[in-house]
Amino acid sequence: MIHITHLLKILYLRDKTPIDLFDIHPPEEFLYHVLYKPENQLDLHCIAPWCSSYKKKSTLKRTGTKRKIKKNGEMHCDYQTCMECGCEYYWNEKDEQIDKRQYIQCYPFILSNATLIELMEKTQLSETKCRHIMAYFKTRLDQFGVYNLNVQNLRRLKTAVYRDLRMSEIRSWNCWDNEDHFLEYWYHQDIISEKLFFQKKVSERIPREKILTQIKEICKTYIEANMDISLKNVAKEVGVSTNTISDWQVAQDYIKEMKRHQREGRLNIRKEQLYNQVNEFIDNFTGRKLHSKDIYEHIQVKQSFLTTAAPDLVKYITGRRKEYNRQMYDVKNF
Ligand SMILES: [Zn+2]
Repeated sequence: MIHITHLLKILYLRDKTPIDLFDIHPPEEFLYHVLYKPENQLDLHCIAPWCSSYKKKSTLKRTGTKRKIKKNGEMHCDYQTCMECGCEYYWNEKDEQIDKRQYIQCYPFILSNATLIELMEKTQLSETKCRHIMAYFKTRLDQFGVYNLNVQNLRRLKTAVYRDLRMSEIRSWNCWDNEDHFLEYWYHQDIISEKLFFQKKVSERIPREKILTQIKEICKTYIEANMDISLKNVAKEVGVSTNTISDWQVAQDYIKEMKRHQREGRLNIRKEQLYNQVNEFIDNFTGRKLHSKDIYEHIQVKQSFLTTAAPDLVKYITGRRKEYNRQMYDVKNF
């Protein structure tokens, strides 16, 4: 709430009249802060009953996303994650704190030792979702007994997260007994913290425009040096993970286009060489009729390959061979 005298004072100081107020078009960001930002921002706390900081002190950290408008039109604001237990929250338009992963909704069922099927029935959530939720609780609740944590696996996973390896790649490691075993480590608090830290680090460290400029320069250098352009090579040069580029359509499309450009350039150079080889061979060929296989053996490329890769060259070879035989031996359709 703003008092009218305060408003008038500001207008007076800015040499404006109250009528000018109607011409003001506040930026979207400002409206968001006024309309949707939770008023009790300073008192935000984790509301997960199993969290050691349950309603005690603020352990929530903003995870980057300020606002999302969902397909159904709902507005989700202020995505925050508890650094203590890994719960993720957002606030809806009514300022209600919502548990994004639905752990809190499932907690009572987990406490009563619900099986996977029972959890699915009671919550109407998908099997995958329930599987992930159960894995999350496995390393957090005493009722499952002391978790026999393999420190080496955890350390290896932390390094993988730091290197931003794909989840599918990590999942295929043979240290996991099964999918549930992998998920239990994937949702371990140390791994969640690592992910949060890494996310922050990447977004703060490298502005995207700068990366794109670097990518363009690298592709140019690679073409000039005739080095293979690949997503992996380019990502390595820039110093980001392949995932960072894979998830970024503009950069991915650019690299794809440059790969195509490089491929075409190489093919043209190779074709030029082959044309020269063919000409030289036919110009110096003597003694008998010229067969197709003589030419293809000489240039050491299969005709079937060239039919697809360079049909113009195949046509040229056929034409030159027929011309040679006609001139030398008067053979029309040899
Ligand atoms: Zn918490």
